[in-house]
Amino acid sequence: MNLLPRLLYLFQMLPVGIPKSMFVELDKIISKFIWQSKRPRIKYKTLQRSKTEGGLNLPVLKYYFWAAQLKPLISWIQQDSQTRWLSIEQAKCSVPLKVLPFLDILVKDLPLWTKTTLNIWNKVRISFKLPRGLSILTSIGHIKSFTPNFLDKKFSKWAEQGLTFLHQLIDRNNLMSFEELCRNFHLQKNDFFRYLQLRSFLSAHRDWERKGGGDKKLITKLYSVFLSMNFNEPTWTKQRWEAETAKKISDETWEEVWTEAHRVTNSNTWREYKWKIISRYFRTPDVVSKMDPKVPSLCWRNCGSAVPNHTHIFWSCPKLQNFWDEVYRAINQIFPEVIPKDVTVALLGIIPDDLP
Ligand SMILES: [Zn+2]
Repeated sequence: MNLLPRLLYLFQMLPVGIPKSMFVELDKIISKFIWQSKRPRIKYKTLQRSKTEGGLNLPVLKYYFWAAQLKPLISWIQQDSQTRWLSIEQAKCSVPLKVLPFLDILVKDLPLWTKTTLNIWNKVRISFKLPRGLSILTSIGHIKSFTPNFLDKKFSKWAEQGLTFLHQLIDRNNLMSFEELCRNFHLQKNDFFRYLQLRSFLSAHRDWERKGGGDKKLITKLYSVFLSMNFNEPTWTKQRWEAETAKKISDETWEEVWTEAHRVTNSNTWREYKWKIISRYFRTPDVVSKMDPKVPSLCWRNCGSAVPNHTHIFWSCPKLQNFWDEVYRAINQIFPEVIPKDVTVALLGIIPDDLP
């Protein structure tokens, strides 16, 4: 898709907020293009899921925009000297940029572009219900809910000795001992009471245990994080298949079904066809009749069935049985094991556990 890199370029280069309505409008244009102005057969949101979750990786532009705009925020934290613009942005900001995203106070008089990055970060936090609490990237000297910070400036002075963030106090999920901190950051004996204050505060606020990520392919990573946080409910498609076949399909098996659907053959046409069968893309007579009650709900092949649903049309219709018998005769000539004649095997590709 050539469109995405072009949009991504703009998303990254311009530190401006884009209103929600703009993304709604873009989605409408894309949907109209995909379905050629006809009524959509698969939900737009389903198409946006990853391929292992039954979608086709159609981009969620809003998330790409968020991910692109959060890239500078990661640079604030990483403080890479190769990033030339950092010193310019820092010169215009009264608070160190690296502590800005995790402050529990509001900073006034920020430059417009810094404000834009922070606004998007806050939108992401609200949208995914991320706690506004502590992170391992919180700066020790800037925690507002840690009262000793108001009386004692020494906590923020530790930064001069190289001790700035909470994660520096932690080794394999445990708070380091005072001796270790003395060794690493040259703390003095009279810092011991401060260490105890901090230790009791951290044991009461364990939000910092949430982990951070890496930095390669940042936008893609942030994007997949956003995606995985948003789509975690069981799908409508799976529920329909379970209802029609009267079988329970576990979430893991369902993920395998989708993954296999994209691997099963090199032919694009047949892969697409398989995806359409599993996604229930086709308008079977029962669906058409629901959309327009004047149309009777009868099997296309005139078999007389009054429940011509997806499973009937592609599997159980009596007029199809010769076809499936022939398919199974061929399959059982090829494989030494007996492949069960079952709709979940034939249409969804679920191989029973007892087969090698
Ligand atoms: Zn039929």
